[in-house]
Amino acid sequence: MNIHEYQAKEFFRNAGLDVPEGKACFSVEEATATAEQYGMPVMVKAQVLTGGRGKAGGVKFCDSMDKVKESAEAILGMDIKSHTVNKVLVTPAVDIEEEYYVGMLVDRASRRVLLMASSEGGVEIEQVAKDNPDAIIKQVIDPRYGLLDHEAMTVSMKLTADVKKARQLAASMQKLYTAFIEVDASLAEINPFIFTPDGIGKAIDAKVNIDDNAMFRHSDFEALRDLEEENPAEAAARKADLSFVKLDGNVGCLVNGAGLAMATMDLVQYYGGMPANFLDIGGSSNPDKVVSALEIILQDENVEVILFNIFGGITRCDDVAKGIIEATNRLDIKVPVVVRLTGTNEEEARVLLQGTDLVPAETMDEVVQKALELASN
Ligand code: GDP
Ligand code: MN
Repeated sequence: MNIHEYQAKEFFRNAGLDVPEGKACFSVEEATATAEQYGMPVMVKAQVLTGGRGKAGGVKFCDSMDKVKESAEAILGMDIKSHTVNKVLVTPAVDIEEEYYVGMLVDRASRRVLLMASSEGGVEIEQVAKDNPDAIIKQVIDPRYGLLDHEAMTVSMKLTADVKKARQLAASMQKLYTAFIEVDASLAEINPFIFTPDGIGKAIDAKVNIDDNAMFRHSDFEALRDLEEENPAEAAARKADLSFVKLDGNVGCLVNGAGLAMATMDLVQYYGGMPANFLDIGGSSNPDKVVSALEIILQDENVEVILFNIFGGITRCDDVAKGIIEATNRLDIKVPVVVRLTGTNEEEARVLLQGTDLVPAETMDEVVQKALELASN
């Protein structure tokens, strides 16, 4: 789960990082009243669950109340990469002398949390990562000991020769690690971590992704979810207890098991197609679940064909076939539906599919190829 800057900053403050105060405001009046309270200058910052707000004009430095009003008016309602801004963060502006990048993520290669830091922080960090990867210093963190003093200091001394600044950077990295572990993050970033002209380090931007698989440990985090920003299909899937990710292609995929779902998507791409989604319907033949899954997939206007790929283990294929037949009967489906069922009772399942509009397939290659043929027609 992705959370907003103002929410992530609260976590960072709790971990002891120096973060300017701030308030999320939902209207121009609220923004101006908040700015009045802080005094000039302030930043007015779009709160949307996407990056690059600065470049899109969603981050404004304001040295007068007129500028605050003008900026809040411009930013509220603004579209940033298809996200509509419905709140702005108003926060006292700081003087910036230097901008650093400090981030952490779960690194698959090392199977550890990886610290990444750069003295070239700010809005161009993706470009730095691409053009000059050596400017990003990395340190794998051992979960048994956390980020040790000497590790944090070694990284920091590679970023700056100023020992006072390095000490602040190192301490901030350790606090960021504390926050990362505390909230079960999959990613936590400060970009930029700045130094004021008098050498004070502060986190002035914050990004946190919370590992969805750890949400059960944080019942209070459910309140952080921005329902207005959530993709409606993904929200419906979450309610139906389906694991679903919306993608940009035209082949709607219903698969049992996450691994098979991934393999199916790979094969769709291998044969030149594009999946419309990832969907794991789990090990159930329950028609209600299949109906929910189909409804979610059919909301997507790009979907030109639906592909079922089911492996019957404990779940029997004939049960699944009944579920699919009942579900497709209940819905008015205008696109072709291709079904591959394999495993326990697949013969019985195939008999059930005869006499329906469902297109049967025996192998994974066949079901994908048939789906792609039908999609292009
Ligand atoms: P992002 O573009 O979505 O990453 O938004 P940021 O919060 O990182 O802001 C983008 C840029 O705006 C920063 O890199 C800074 O250069 C500038 N900025 C943000 N906050 C302040 C501030 O308090 N004072 C000043 N002078 N500039 C700021
Ligand atoms: Mn930023």
